[in-house]
Amino acid sequence: MITKFIKRILRRDPMERHTYANHTGAPKRVPKKSHRIDPHLLSKNAVKVTHTLQQAGYEAFIVGGAVRDLALGIGPKDFDVATNATPEQVQKLFRKARLIGRRFQIVHVTFFGKGAPEIIEVSTFRALLDNAGDHVAESGRILRDNVWGTQHEDAARRDFSINAMYYDPATETVLDYHGGMADMQKKTLRMIGDPAKRYREDPIRMLRAIRFAAKTGFTLDAATREPIAKLGNLIHDVPSARLFDEILKLLMSGYSWAAIQGLRDAGLHHGLLPLLDHILDTKTESKGANDFVRLALANTDQRIQSGKSVSAGFLFATLLWPDLLKNWQQNIAKGMSNIPALHDAMDDTIATQSSGMTIQRRFESDMREIWSMQPRFEKRVGRYPYRLLESPRFRAGYDFMLLRCATGEQNPALGEWWTKFIAADPAGQEALMTAAKTDNQGGLGNPQAAAKRRRRRKPKIATPTEGAAS
Ligand code: ATP
Ligand code: MG
Repeated sequence: MITKFIKRILRRDPMERHTYANHTGAPKRVPKKSHRIDPHLLSKNAVKVTHTLQQAGYEAFIVGGAVRDLALGIGPKDFDVATNATPEQVQKLFRKARLIGRRFQIVHVTFFGKGAPEIIEVSTFRALLDNAGDHVAESGRILRDNVWGTQHEDAARRDFSINAMYYDPATETVLDYHGGMADMQKKTLRMIGDPAKRYREDPIRMLRAIRFAAKTGFTLDAATREPIAKLGNLIHDVPSARLFDEILKLLMSGYSWAAIQGLRDAGLHHGLLPLLDHILDTKTESKGANDFVRLALANTDQRIQSGKSVSAGFLFATLLWPDLLKNWQQNIAKGMSNIPALHDAMDDTIATQSSGMTIQRRFESDMREIWSMQPRFEKRVGRYPYRLLESPRFRAGYDFMLLRCATGEQNPALGEWWTKFIAADPAGQEALMTAAKTDNQGGLGNPQAAAKRRRRRKPKIATPTEGAAS
């Protein structure tokens, strides 16, 4: 009996103690000298929240991505708190606290300070029941009772080991349930439990895997990576709005180019954005498009990494531009005139995109505005330049045009002209317009002229511009 037991222990896979279903052990308590989290990177408000909850007798920790980022030495962009207090109990403790969500209620605690208000998201430890809500009848009460769980269960529900660590600012201790610290040292992204099962439960986790790998530079553990090739198609079962949110996070991660390469390597890009299909599949054929998108993404990454804002409309306008340009050129070849050809192409591009992942309306109107401004940059006489300058989205349209110049798809002289025009005084502006009359090479930027120019000269990657400002 004893020998059988010993044999079984020896046969055990060393990873088994981390597995989803079997894991029942206590967490590893990681002291400050091992995790080296710098308390200066903590949000004072998040600490206030854990402190207030702990003073009221509850358990409370900073959790999830914030702990991962802190352990990496990065200042988290937002802070989540997990507690054993119920949402109602949490709400009673804070002045500005709002209950959010129906099935799984969480509390948003808002703090007003000098800058933008900070929201700390407080969630109650959740139970391990898969799709807990579905197990329960209509009654809200039963539902709620079933949803809350222990901290240990809450940890097992999370996606990656490095996202399942709990930090207590009071003791500066990390509770590590799934070997997250060891994975951090190994620079490994590892799904908690059986990865295939976890991806089936929620296919978005495949995209999260790619995003976090790009952001942290970590490698996906083999067992975490392998099922993605087979299960990738499940992504299309995810409701479009959720998929859109996740793709937006991926593009706005500050590591979008790396993440898109990751999507391609994992075969996950199909049907998400048409441009990813053409560009990532046929590298040489769409060299110009590839250059444009690469530059746009490098530009976005640079802005995000240096803490600047990026508009999602601008970003999607760049991602769909190669597709739009192709449609525009085709319409012109069919005999349509420039502007109607552009508008028709915009409709086509958006319709094709919507068959994959629908881009939210509010971004769609920004995209249309940026696109339809493009031919207007070529009209450099009379009132036209002044009117363009007054458009509310001028800056975005101008930045977009500069990106086109940087890849040689638009004549760089046009970008230079506008840069001077914006800075010039009224007399200088008049002089620039007079000069434009003579240097106007007839459709400086129309797609046919641009296509000819592209054939003549090799597009080059220039330094990312200061684009994308909203
Ligand atoms: P970031 O906010 O930097 O994008 P994050 O890890 O904080 O990264 P969130 O979406 O804010 O990501 O989620 C917070 C935490 O909730 C995660 O760290 C993870 O523990 C858990 N989580 C989020 N989404 C899932 C999911 N789809 N499956 C399992 N756990 C998840
Ligand atoms: Mg987060």
